[in-house]
Amino acid sequence: MKKTTILSTLLIGAISLQTVANSYDPPIKKTPKKPNIIVIMADDLGYADVGFNGCKDIPTPNIDRIAKNGVKFTNGYTSYSVCGPSRAGFMTGRYQQRFGFERNPQYQPHDPNMGLPKSENTLAESLQQVNYTSGIIGKWHLGADISNHPLNRGFTEFFGHLGGGHQYMPKSLTIKDSYTAKDEQESYRTWILRNHTPVKTEHYLTDEFSNEAVAFVERNKKDPFFLFLSYNAPHNPLQSTKKYLDRFPNIKNKKRKTYAAMVSAVDDGVGRVLDKLEALNLDENTLIFFLSDNGGPESKNASNNGVLRDGKGSAYEGGFRVPFAMQWKGHVKPSVYEHPVSSLDIFATITGLAKAPIKKDKPLDGVNLIPFLTGENNTVPHETIYLRKFDSKLHAIRHNDLKLIVKWKSETKELYNLKDDISEKNNLAKKYPEEVKKLNKMGLAWESELIDPIFLGLIHTESWQKKIQKNKKKKENKKKKK
Ligand code: CA
Repeated sequence: MKKTTILSTLLIGAISLQTVANSYDPPIKKTPKKPNIIVIMADDLGYADVGFNGCKDIPTPNIDRIAKNGVKFTNGYTSYSVCGPSRAGFMTGRYQQRFGFERNPQYQPHDPNMGLPKSENTLAESLQQVNYTSGIIGKWHLGADISNHPLNRGFTEFFGHLGGGHQYMPKSLTIKDSYTAKDEQESYRTWILRNHTPVKTEHYLTDEFSNEAVAFVERNKKDPFFLFLSYNAPHNPLQSTKKYLDRFPNIKNKKRKTYAAMVSAVDDGVGRVLDKLEALNLDENTLIFFLSDNGGPESKNASNNGVLRDGKGSAYEGGFRVPFAMQWKGHVKPSVYEHPVSSLDIFATITGLAKAPIKKDKPLDGVNLIPFLTGENNTVPHETIYLRKFDSKLHAIRHNDLKLIVKWKSETKELYNLKDDISEKNNLAKKYPEEVKKLNKMGLAWESELIDPIFLGLIHTESWQKKIQKNKKKKENKKKKK
């Protein structure tokens, strides 16, 4: 009896302890640490110039790691087909034509209106409000006036250049003060800025940026960070070092060889960043996007957009469908995602995960991709992708598999079914007039929400115009000779 009583008491005690534990100790739910974010953007990289899109002559094992660890997007679009506007879209999560950023800005270091309007909210400004440390390394291109300097647009660290491109060799950087450069061409020669201070760099520029990226990750390993690693490579001028050129003894075309070397340098940098994350055990808590800011300008930098028609500047696929991949180890399973996604989705995805506020009067055009990638949401992120090119006087609408291109001055419209005709060769406009009407209506409705460009672009400067006129004359003379 005694034994039983003791046992019962013990049992009752245990049960009541258990009950107490259940009623007073809520199950411990570990609050997940906010993820780190890295966006790696290449400049003018062709669709078919990464291994994960089938590139054979330029190995990109490190960029491919991102696609292999995570998601390869086959239909990833940027919001424009040249640098500046595309970056303005990415940085705000909104179609940049909504706020008049529709041209590559001129390098005007004393014009506060030549760049991203202050009324717009940058990704870094959103993340600042939830205590992220944000760094940009590389190309800015959203305005060279001090009021638009990255540190005045939400970033806490900057190492890079303000204009749209740069010389790669340290000996070519001869202008110390970025604010004295008179135009875009001169801006290519400015010293690199570390925050507001010009610094004399010693290495090939792509390596400088990779070194900084690794140091940024190391320095900020304890806090949630956002790193925008904005390589200006492989944008012109085509310049590389022996180290990278020697990797391509089999590429005979000199332009392609230098381009390959430049892409290889970027790939090395990507690898060093990924290795650093792994070494610090941060790879599972870091979401990484990789993309190009627009399609490859094939004739200019020897890039290759593969089967896609045309390249940089165009409204055909080669202009704005780009290499696009994302990894978030342990959260998003490796996969290939075929539905259209947009560079505008990066903003929505990041702010969604970081729980960063978005200005109510600046609604996003992108969506948080994570629920679509995990299967939580079975619909598609975008039924429709839009592009307007004010100066080229055209717009393009992709709705599901159909794509309509409307050149405002032309009577003829172009309709393609991208599912069967990825190279946009077979114009179906005459065959499907109802579809043309429907898509055009959608395009016009979207366009009614846009404004005209608010600043002049690169093509409007005197020196560039003179150059264009010179080239025009040259071409005309050549024709006459023929
Ligand atoms: Ca570009």
